[in-house]
Amino acid sequence: MTSRAISSLLAAVREGQLRAVGRAISLIENAAPELPTIMKELAPATGRAMILGMTGPPGVGKSTTIAVLVDAIRMQGRRVGVLAVDPSSPFSGGALLGDRVRMQQHALDSDVLIRSMATRGHLGGLAVAAPAALRVYEAAGCDLVIVETVGVGQSEVEIAGVADCTVMIMAPGAGDAIQTAKAGILEIGDIFVVNKSDREGAHAVVRQLREMITLGRRQDGDWKPPVLSLVAASGEGVPELMAAIDSFRHHAEQTGRVQQRRLDRARREVLSLLLDGLRQQVTLTRGVQIERLAVAVRDGKLDAFSAAEQLLADFGAKAALLKHGVAVVKNGSDEVQRT
Ligand code: GDP
Repeated sequence: MTSRAISSLLAAVREGQLRAVGRAISLIENAAPELPTIMKELAPATGRAMILGMTGPPGVGKSTTIAVLVDAIRMQGRRVGVLAVDPSSPFSGGALLGDRVRMQQHALDSDVLIRSMATRGHLGGLAVAAPAALRVYEAAGCDLVIVETVGVGQSEVEIAGVADCTVMIMAPGAGDAIQTAKAGILEIGDIFVVNKSDREGAHAVVRQLREMITLGRRQDGDWKPPVLSLVAASGEGVPELMAAIDSFRHHAEQTGRVQQRRLDRARREVLSLLLDGLRQQVTLTRGVQIERLAVAVRDGKLDAFSAAEQLLADFGAKAALLKHGVAVVKNGSDEVQRT
């Protein structure tokens, strides 16, 4: 892209044009060479929008819930962004969730920006892609961006890392609450929603969740995650959900938690980019050596630890640092696997 093309793309993003927003997000997905320039340009106007993470098992009604939330947000006259992320999907180009039928009602509303994004494992995965996409949305005039993740397990934990507020959605019959607790999900939800409350068993799920939250949750300030009933299909319970989101936001601002989460997010983003860059640099400059070491490890002539130590020593790092290095890799294992 020429610098002129970048400027006109940025101008179109600032006007809130969906196509331009989509284009910018494609550049993020593809880790395009223009990306650093674009991010540099966008940075000054960003940093204030709220990221609302929506997660939960497939089929519980996430996109239905997002559609009714978007309605409610639009009633307040706000511009809203929706980013549907499938961290493992090989597809991109906005052809997934964001374009699903339930969102079609918003398709003609220029104040609703919907896009799906596949992070496909490069550019630091969600840790980098989501904040970058958030900046694009924010530059386009959204002060609230809903990020929906598809899939189970790691992506749910990941979204908690990028969101200011995480809403965990569940439904009766879609994997019971006990399973949820096992998956560590109890730890990451700021608000719990039991959707499909028109169905039998919903009340029991609410009760179970409340009990588990009271019993087993981390103590973080005085925020006790509410468990709300919702019938997304009819909109019943939406005002309560909106109120809970507002109330969490207020709490998080008062206690400094918003700033803390943003700091955590920024740190993760920087670290992910650094690891990406290092990986690229190492692969480029040490490819032959790595190959040779890998063969030795495969053949049992060398252990992987010693191989890595050799490379680190080459980089001027003290061998003693390796221990620390291993710890970092463990903590950020997802980023490392993804890069
Ligand atoms: P997602 O995969 O989590 O995004 O779930 P969807 O929003 O696609 O919803 C899955 C199915 O549940 C769809 O057939 C919806 O019509 C249905 N559904 C969503 N909300 C409700 C609800 O409140 N009650 C009932 N009975 N069905 C719902």
